Amino acid sequence: MNETAIFNVRSPAAAREEVLEELWTSHEAGHALSVRELARTIHAGPDEGWGGVVQELVDSGLVEVADGELTLTAAGQHQAREIVRRHRLAEVLFHQVLDLPMAVTENEACGVEHVLTAQATDAVCSFLGHPPVCPHGRPIPNGPCCSTLTRRVAPLICRLADLDPGERGRVVLLAPRHRERLEQLTDLGVMPGAVLTLRQRKPSLVVEVDRTLLALEDEIAQGIYVRPLTEW
Ligand SMILES: [Zn+2]
Ligand SMILES: [Zn+2]
Repeated sequence: MNETAIFNVRSPAAAREEVLEELWTSHEAGHALSVRELARTIHAGPDEGWGGVVQELVDSGLVEVADGELTLTAAGQHQAREIVRRHRLAEVLFHQVLDLPMAVTENEACGVEHVLTAQATDAVCSFLGHPPVCPHGRPIPNGPCCSTLTRRVAPLICRLADLDPGERGRVVLLAPRHRERLEQLTDLGVMPGAVLTLRQRKPSLVVEVDRTLLALEDEIAQGIYVRPLTEW
């Protein structure tokens, strides 16, 4: 998306969230931002009113300015964390599961981060198996859905490799890194709807499908999503 397009689609609320996200990301990377640097990293022109956006954030107690540097207050961190969580979960969904190129993923994630409700965010997180990092390797902040306790009770989709040995799961989605793997998996009977039993996780992952044992490379196993079956 070019700069004009970004500016045109950004609502005042989205602009504020954009700043909070940027401050979170730069803090994470270990550097502080001034208003001028913020306008640059956010790919905006100097006269697009970012000073005003920052002022609003300061007025609402989310951002503090000291010696020309911007920092998030505790309340600001709380909000920024949620935005970053939505952005990075969207990246995992669009890039790692749906296989969209990174450039498209970024645009989509930047839009989605402003509209997903908390409930939808936790549903996406659960669907993805509560991933710890985004495709850039940056940490995804936890949500209430990520605690082990909730994960045990809630029915959800997880990666095949997250099953315990002996546990069964129904395949819901195949998202291998390389498309040619899809056909190989299907030939072996690993397709949506098939029931797999995890037989062993180490040294290599072994599953049983239709009374046949298959050893799968980790990379392939990572792209197999199942709904765990608890009843026998
Ligand atoms: Zn990322
Ligand atoms: Zn989660």
